[in-house]
Amino acid sequence: MAQNESDKLHIPRRTLLKGAGALALSPLLMSLEGKSSFAAASNIKKGSRAQKFNTKLVLLGTTGGMTWWPGSNRASSSQALVVGDSMYIIDLGFGATQRLAEAFNHAKFVTINGEKLQLELSTFLKNVRAVFLTHLHMDHLGDYPTFLMIGARAGFGIPNRLQIIGPGDRGRLEENKTGYSGTILKAECGGPKQTTTPGTKQMTNLLLQAFAQNFNDCAMDAGYPDLQNIIDVKEIGDPRTIPWPVDFILPNPSKPWTRNETCPAMVPFEIYRDDLIRVSAILVDHYQVYPSFAFRFDTNDGSLVISGDTGPDTKGNLQKLAKGADVLVHEVIDNAWITATFKGVKEGDPAWPLYYHAITAHTTIEDVGRVAEQCQAKTLVLSHIGPGNTPLSRLKKAQKNFSGKLIIGEDLMEIGLGRAHR
Ligand SMILES: [Zn+2]
Ligand SMILES: [Zn+2]
Repeated sequence: MAQNESDKLHIPRRTLLKGAGALALSPLLMSLEGKSSFAAASNIKKGSRAQKFNTKLVLLGTTGGMTWWPGSNRASSSQALVVGDSMYIIDLGFGATQRLAEAFNHAKFVTINGEKLQLELSTFLKNVRAVFLTHLHMDHLGDYPTFLMIGARAGFGIPNRLQIIGPGDRGRLEENKTGYSGTILKAECGGPKQTTTPGTKQMTNLLLQAFAQNFNDCAMDAGYPDLQNIIDVKEIGDPRTIPWPVDFILPNPSKPWTRNETCPAMVPFEIYRDDLIRVSAILVDHYQVYPSFAFRFDTNDGSLVISGDTGPDTKGNLQKLAKGADVLVHEVIDNAWITATFKGVKEGDPAWPLYYHAITAHTTIEDVGRVAEQCQAKTLVLSHIGPGNTPLSRLKKAQKNFSGKLIIGEDLMEIGLGRAHR
């Protein structure tokens, strides 16, 4: 990044280093006694005081994996960071676009001949500057195709192209732990080349092709824009766009991955910058599902870190990235649910690989507080809650070993950063 571009971002050095911005929550959260704050979604939804903040985090989807948990209506993982009039989206799991509409598509009505009619031509996504994808798992991507279809209609990419930033093609399959012998799907790369592990750019191109009939019809029948001219996809790890930092070593393609290789100790590196935010990334430990990134967003009003999907031991990576963050949104899994679901499962059983994924690639309620404490985060927000119907009584145990404020995330919860406007 050129020095003059760096100077455009007026982020105090103390914020970049320590995240010194103040955090503020909706009135209901503020009124709760003690250092922990627990609240249901109905208490903290749009219209809350967080709307008066210049910078705010909006939780769009707060479960990990599927959304079908009885008693839970959490959408899959997704967040929006709003800075002034601009918006940035992190992940787009199942249900995220519906939550985007619920959070930001404020209806406009007109009265004609005494009848109240809603104006439908909404462009509520016109101020989305960028979408960031932590990794290419379905509970972070399920609504990406929907977003491309709805978002083109809802105004993104005009007049400035929407930036889409996510992992590149990792170039090799993960180890076959299940003994799978079915078809290995391959994606076209253009020409004779194919890949089993398409990155963000190729995935996007292929989605546009898959929905070509819809996009062509919409362009010629309903005035949709030319999608290829309003998005700009960049891949993390592509030397032409966002190269790896020099101290990163690619896993050895001739051997199965080890955890040290999929999450080596490294330094955070910048992946995006504009006049409002600076975004940096680091690898976290989602083990086989590599690469998996955590992202840090520094603004003039404070700092936000999204852990992405990770086990608790990131070789110190998350601690480096999230040091002193005002808000750390961290994934969490309920160990009691794992124990009950996989009771008696042994290595070699059909359910073993999924059990092994659950215990190695995610962070338990018992561990997440310690991680947040090591990060010196001021506030820990639990999200990507697995399963979605984990009771509050168990999630509250995350406060153990964490001296800051704990918030149990709910869909449409808003958390303001910095000072509130009067
Ligand atoms: Zn996930
Ligand atoms: Zn994942």
